[in-house]
Amino acid sequence: MARRPLVVGNWKMNGTRASSQKLLAEIIAGLPADCKTDVGVCPPSVFIPEVATAASGKAVRVGSQNIADQDEGAYTGEISGPMLKEFNVSLAIVGHSERRAIYGETDALVAARYAKAIAHGLTPILCVGETLEERESNRTFEVIDTQLKAVLDLCGVESLKKAVIAYEPVWAIGTGRTASTEQAQEVHAYIRQKIAALDATVAAGLQILYGGSVKADNAQALFSQPDVDGGLIGGASLDAKSFLAICTAA
Ligand code: PEP
Repeated sequence: MARRPLVVGNWKMNGTRASSQKLLAEIIAGLPADCKTDVGVCPPSVFIPEVATAASGKAVRVGSQNIADQDEGAYTGEISGPMLKEFNVSLAIVGHSERRAIYGETDALVAARYAKAIAHGLTPILCVGETLEERESNRTFEVIDTQLKAVLDLCGVESLKKAVIAYEPVWAIGTGRTASTEQAQEVHAYIRQKIAALDATVAAGLQILYGGSVKADNAQALFSQPDVDGGLIGGASLDAKSFLAICTAA
C-alpha cells in the first residue's frame, strides 16, 4: 500500500506573531503546486488562530503541540480538542519527549491525550523514542513497546487508522546527532511489524515519521528508507528554505 509522505514542523516555543505569519507565508509560497507530500506546521498555541486563518484553503495543515486529556473545566494551562476544533486545526502532537521529560507526562497521560485527539477528529502524532541510556543498554524496543502499549490498551489498534506515529530518538532531538538511516529504518520496521501482528491492514497504511535533527542534507537518505514516511521537524522547520527542502526530499 502506497503511503503518502508527511512532513510536519514543530515550531515549539519559538517566534513571534509576525515571524509566524512570515514563516507560514514563505512555506505556502514555496510549496510546489503538485507537491506530493502532505505538509503541516505546529505553531505555539497563541499563534494558532492567526496561522490557521492564513493556512485556510492552502496546502498546509495546522497542528497543535499538545491536546488536553479533558474537554473542559479546571485544567489550568491546557487546551482542549473542542477548542482546537474551533480553528482550522487537524493535527495534534502527543507525547513529545520534551513533554515527557520536562513536564513529567506519563505513558498513561499521553494515551489519554491521544484518545481525546481521536475522539475529536484530530490526527494525533504520537511521539515515541528512547533516551541514549536506554539505547546503550539495549532497551530501545522495550521502551517503544511500553509507550505503544499504553495507547493500544486504551484506544485499540483500529485507532491508528486515524493517527500518525513519530519515532523520535531522544538523543537525536535538537542535538545535531541524527539516527543513521539503518537505525531509523530498524525501529520503524519494528514498529510496523508490531502493529502488523495486531492488524496488517492498519500497519500497511500507517504513516511513521522520523524526528531528530532532520536537516535538508540528511532528509532524503532518511525518507528513502522503506518504513520512513516523512518527518517531524524541529529546528529546521523554523527556516522556510530548510523546511521546504525537507518537504521536497519527502
Ligand atoms: C522535535 O522536536 O520533534 C525534533 C525532531 O526536533 P529537531 O528536529 O530540532 O531535532
